[in-house]
Amino acid sequence: MTDPTFLEELTALINKHNLENGSNTPDYILADYLNHCLAIFDSTVKERSRWYGENPKNLPPIAPPIEPCLWTVDDEGTWSTECGNAFQFEVDGPHENNARFCQYCGHPIDAVHANH
Ligand SMILES: [Zn+2]
Repeated sequence: MTDPTFLEELTALINKHNLENGSNTPDYILADYLNHCLAIFDSTVKERSRWYGENPKNLPPIAPPIEPCLWTVDDEGTWSTECGNAFQFEVDGPHENNARFCQYCGHPIDAVHANH
């Protein structure tokens, strides 16, 4: 079931990027290993589907997306968080300071600058 063209290309790609150096393993052995990984993954997913009986009711639930925490800033530069807290940066705001998650509730920050 292996595609020789895919294996040849994968071997060449590993060689091109010198990825055999990390484990001191020849590129064609690494390509074969990765190809087997894909095969066992496919087999495992199919086996799991069979175990669930291909019935959507039996599939594990998908976690809902995490809602962002809305941050709004006032004229003094104080940011009010949707989860009921306030925070001030020394300069600029969440985006400029690479603040991606609210430190109070842990949700992703959705920052809104006040309209001027
Ligand atoms: Zn929050």
